[in-house]
Amino acid sequence: MKPTSTDPVIGIDLGTTNSCVAIVEDGVPVVIPNRGGYKTTPSMVAITEAGKRLVGHIAKRQAITNAENTVHTVKRLIGRKFDSPAVKSARMTCAYEIVEGPHGDVRIKLRDQLYSVQEVSAMVLQEMKLVAEEHKGREITKAVITVPAYFSDSQRQATKDAGQIAGLDVIRIINEPTAAALAYGYGKEIDKLVAVFDLGGGTFDISILEIGSGGVFKVVATAGDTFLGGEDFDARVIDVLVKEFYDEHKVELRQDRMALQRLKDAAEKAKCELSTVSESDINLPFIISVGRSNEALHLQRTLTRRELEEITRDLVERCMEICEATLHDAQLKRTEIDEVVLVGGMTRMPLVQSMVGDFFGREPCKGVHPDEVVAVGAAIQGKALLDESEELILLDVTPHALGIMTHGKKFEELIGQNTTVPTSQTKVFTTSRDNQTAVKILVLQAEGDRVDENNILGEFILKDLRPAPKGHVEIEVTFAIDSDGIVSVSAKDLETGREQSIQVTASSGLSEEEIEQMMEKADEYLVDRRQSDEFEAMRQQVEKLIAEVERLFPDVEHIVASSDFGREALGKARGVLDLARRAVEDRNLAALKEQNEALSRTHRMFKGVVSRPH
Ligand code: AMP
Repeated sequence: MKPTSTDPVIGIDLGTTNSCVAIVEDGVPVVIPNRGGYKTTPSMVAITEAGKRLVGHIAKRQAITNAENTVHTVKRLIGRKFDSPAVKSARMTCAYEIVEGPHGDVRIKLRDQLYSVQEVSAMVLQEMKLVAEEHKGREITKAVITVPAYFSDSQRQATKDAGQIAGLDVIRIINEPTAAALAYGYGKEIDKLVAVFDLGGGTFDISILEIGSGGVFKVVATAGDTFLGGEDFDARVIDVLVKEFYDEHKVELRQDRMALQRLKDAAEKAKCELSTVSESDINLPFIISVGRSNEALHLQRTLTRRELEEITRDLVERCMEICEATLHDAQLKRTEIDEVVLVGGMTRMPLVQSMVGDFFGREPCKGVHPDEVVAVGAAIQGKALLDESEELILLDVTPHALGIMTHGKKFEELIGQNTTVPTSQTKVFTTSRDNQTAVKILVLQAEGDRVDENNILGEFILKDLRPAPKGHVEIEVTFAIDSDGIVSVSAKDLETGREQSIQVTASSGLSEEEIEQMMEKADEYLVDRRQSDEFEAMRQQVEKLIAEVERLFPDVEHIVASSDFGREALGKARGVLDLARRAVEDRNLAALKEQNEALSRTHRMFKGVVSRPH
């Protein structure tokens, strides 16, 4: 069914560290707080000993004591192959177990169960969907989800799959910096060249956009690094602490998963504090016990802002180098940029702000909320897509060149980096042998002419070719990148005009069947979750009524105890109270509902008795 403008659509910023959901209401974008009142939710998932799933703040709160079954920074793994450097590095630093999946992809082991990365991301997305549904009081299925601009095809596809598993119809995937620019420029009549500098928990992106009056947002250039973010800053602090501890005690803290998780939390906390103060105390008593006597060792250290800046300066410099290259690609001078918008939690670090300011020769723009602006932009785009609004036009670009590998392992570019999407390119292939019935081609997403294994999108086979002398069969192949940045390939036999069957084997990713199964599991969770939410709400209501009836009891007793009728009523009320308490203890929803009604009647009766003049 075609969506209508009355269907709500949410914008979700699925962050490495935190996620955020927004919606446009009466033309105004609103960030939706979760049950705890927070506008961002940690992108964390845990499975408890009892097999219960925890998402968000409750997962974060128990991360230290359940480190092996708590997943964080899963975005660093999405759409990646198990043997990629990113995954190797995550396996060294994460307390949870990362194993190889059936397609050379990544699976996460939690309490003996294997989960795909898409499934874990879906758990976070499902939570954001629930946050929005509670706010709107209705089901929400349509969403725009953001990804780092530099995400590859498989990372985008995997994010879309995660949305599908979470029960969302992902109407568009948009780039985070582009979303931030949308939020910045929304409703403003401006004509500006804007640089969006986005340094989050796991990724860095820079995009340069032209915002034109009339609501045209055109991305001029984009670049980034999907493995450069706040986590790397934390890792530097951890390195220092681990090394000093080793020098002093000859004990390797990394061996202990709980100690490592505590170190991570402490390092991140110190880093964040140092954005506002010049010194931060790191205090980790009983960090590890050693020797036969289990001697407890403690870690205590003061970290200064200056030290933090020294050990992380090169990371910020890497960001600046990427900015430089992006400006160069866009053939722009630093001084031509009218405005710099900072996005992502890491841009709160004073060193980042000052280096960005120095680089562009202007103070970055204040007034956008770095943690919320991306979700807001996604919500704006979602609304515009549903309304088919012509007031907002978004022209984004592809961050990676698309090409094929030809003879001699040379990369042949078909679609260049920073080409406006959607876009397509055609190329004619012919056979190189007589009676050849199939041609095999490698599709790559790359930047230079180096064929990097990690950028192989998939193998692409033209089959069922007509037997003919070599060079006589001509197949026109179309490579397309859609508005989500996702690649598709189609082919046509030029002589017959017949569509050729094409099989693209993705280098990683899930099969339709696996996605279906994961969707079923997500639905089961939803049923459980709804039941437990309903139970919780009923329990609270019944406990409130118990307290109310108990409070009124002595007064009612005083008034009615002299009559037989009154004594009988009091006896019944005691019975109702007993049954209600038992229903709470037994965690029995059906009994709770029954006692809720009985208690409500008793409560009404009690109130009637005490309010009558005596
Ligand atoms: P994001 O992915 O945008 O949610 O950014 C999260 C990253 O920002 C994490 O690495 C946080 O530690 C970091 N961050 C959050 N607040 C601050 C702060 N006040 N100073 C420095 N870094 C911060």
